[in-house]
Amino acid sequence: MLVSYSMRGEEPVVNEALKVRALPEGSYDYLLEFLKLYRDAVQLVVDKIWSIDEKLSWKKLHRLFYSDLMRLGFRAHHAKEIYINAKSLVESAESNNGRKPVLRKLSARIDKYDYKLDLNNTTLTLKLHNDYEVKLRLVTPRERVEKFRSWSNYELVVKYDGKSFWVSIYFKRIVKSLKPRTVMTIDLNFGNVTLAVYTLDGRRVRLKKLNTPHRKILTHRIWIERIQRKYPKSWRFIKNVRKAIERHGERIRNISWDYAHKLGDLIAELALRYHSVVVLEDLEKLRENNKKKDKEFNKKLGLWFYRRIQFCIEYEAKERDLEVVKVNPRGTSSKCPRCGGRLVEDGYRVLRCRKCGFVGDRDVTATINIYKKYISKHSRCGVSGVAPNAPKPDENPSGMQGNKNEAMTTES
Ligand SMILES: [Zn+2]
Repeated sequence: MLVSYSMRGEEPVVNEALKVRALPEGSYDYLLEFLKLYRDAVQLVVDKIWSIDEKLSWKKLHRLFYSDLMRLGFRAHHAKEIYINAKSLVESAESNNGRKPVLRKLSARIDKYDYKLDLNNTTLTLKLHNDYEVKLRLVTPRERVEKFRSWSNYELVVKYDGKSFWVSIYFKRIVKSLKPRTVMTIDLNFGNVTLAVYTLDGRRVRLKKLNTPHRKILTHRIWIERIQRKYPKSWRFIKNVRKAIERHGERIRNISWDYAHKLGDLIAELALRYHSVVVLEDLEKLRENNKKKDKEFNKKLGLWFYRRIQFCIEYEAKERDLEVVKVNPRGTSSKCPRCGGRLVEDGYRVLRCRKCGFVGDRDVTATINIYKKYISKHSRCGVSGVAPNAPKPDENPSGMQGNKNEAMTTES
């Protein structure tokens, strides 16, 4: 999936590319001719910029190349894309201390003014040089393009790999974030995912624990290691052995993606129902903090699994116009949510604070700490400014006293 998130002013933007094979209707001679012409034009501009030893503004590029490119039969926006392309190629080559770029592949970036996309018939019409046009049929199921109807498309890239044509059409959509009424915090662990929904004044209204398929994944991992141990030097070279390893790898990929998609969907649906802002731990920070949890992640499963889960949660939440926030995971499972003291293990996945006597399920405690981090950072103008009610020792609030099983139940 080619997805990225950016900001336009205050508003988050989702960018996504639809990459599909495209079949030209009728002859594709002009399209091939266009791609070659385009590549040679980019090369021409690259060669010239390379020999000029100064920073070139858009104005200057335009003055230098526009009329030449028009004479070759390009349209105005083709010309623009050609020197944007050439300029960025030269810049990245220079910053990599490399040599002058030499283009071989047939690939062209086309502005939205130079193509027409018809989502009803899944066809695409490209405007080429000398006023030629080519119509392409997109090889994709209708359902896949359906969601893009409400998005806006901008440029596209068309490629020829020697056998087929491929297009990547870029779409974007501004996310109109709903004002959160509750806060959903999510704690990812090796064996389970714990989510809790808190009101803005700190009451927990929902708690859910879901198991991860870590055992299944580990079983395949163990198989791979076993095979590699048996053929320590040769496993790469014996076809059947390599095939067996690939099969287990494939299973791991399928299990984890399948789980991540389902979980992301489930969490986003729940968050939508509660009008929640979705708060996750920042996995990038996890590495910096170099915590015990980090080591556990790496040793047992790898951060990739958690990245995949987070990616799907974030993706599904943003699809539903929900806000997603990441907080630093430092201390989420080691700090007392009531007094800030250090928590120590007190039985299986139970934590106790020596200072104030707080006792809580480890994962539930993490969701409280994540909630507190979110609130302390995002309380603005009294909207979500109320601190969570710190649980008192003799209560049985979000902190959860003694009875481990209560927090373990999933209120589904
Ligand atoms: Zn405490």
